[in-house]
Amino acid sequence: MKFGTYVFEPKKAEGFDFHLFRVKPEVGRRLPPMSDMYSNVAIFGDNVTARNHPDWISQSALGPAWRTNDQFNVRWDILCQTQPDHRAEQLDYIEDVARHSPGVWLNSIHFADHGHCTCPRCKERWKKSGLSWFEWRRKEVTDYMREVSERVRDRAKKKFVIGVLPDPVGSLERFGIDFNDLAPLTDEFLVVMFSKNYATPWYWEMLTRGFKKLFKDVPLNIALYVFGPGDNPAEVPAPSELVTLSVRAGRAGADGILYLTDKASQIWDFQKAVVDRVELRERLKTYGCQEVLDFFKSWEKIVE
Ligand SMILES: [Zn+2]
Repeated sequence: MKFGTYVFEPKKAEGFDFHLFRVKPEVGRRLPPMSDMYSNVAIFGDNVTARNHPDWISQSALGPAWRTNDQFNVRWDILCQTQPDHRAEQLDYIEDVARHSPGVWLNSIHFADHGHCTCPRCKERWKKSGLSWFEWRRKEVTDYMREVSERVRDRAKKKFVIGVLPDPVGSLERFGIDFNDLAPLTDEFLVVMFSKNYATPWYWEMLTRGFKKLFKDVPLNIALYVFGPGDNPAEVPAPSELVTLSVRAGRAGADGILYLTDKASQIWDFQKAVVDRVELRERLKTYGCQEVLDFFKSWEKIVE
């Protein structure tokens, strides 16, 4: 297994195998990539571009994909999947980011949600394709990911990881994502499993097993939520929950675990809290994933 940080600032915390820096998160702001941190780019969830081009927002019978639309689980403004200017600009941007960092990990690669996108261009492209609605959406997502993959893997010769939402069953109908289509295009998968608490690890362990089964030979990374931008410290996951879930996800087959914080210093706070949970780590020894416990133990020398 490998362990990484997943942070909003270009700063590496000690004690991890790799680092993922959010050069362009869904809020749409962009920061320069780092030569020694992987770059994380959200493509279609992009508040800045949506504000600059409100006519590019994804459309549906239940309204556009503004983050204020409660019909959908959209936390950001999401652009139409086939907007040609955005697609072209993001291809060049992602290739450039890849050239200036060890690789690119993507988020927000897909249609906003079920029923998207019904803009005039998408309707026209669907009609012309002769495919069913779901097959047409699948082809749009896969074809674009093939282009991005070529830019990162073939041209920039860097590592490429596709990120998906934690829905192993409905992703085709909701987002246009077919995991078998994407598997040959990516080096690894990332499944974001963000939650403000992990009080019932059983569910997350089940999702990990489900994705492990779907992805077959492609490594599975999961990302866990530690401390997000602007969070109230009283409302973030308890370190003990994160320790327990890490062990259970490890035994369920996760090949990598990433820990999300706003700042690198919050990773250190987390490490300190994990090291302090001596009794819990002792108790988890019978759970069947010593590798994660050994990794946590390695932090003892960092936080001393
Ligand atoms: Zn559209």
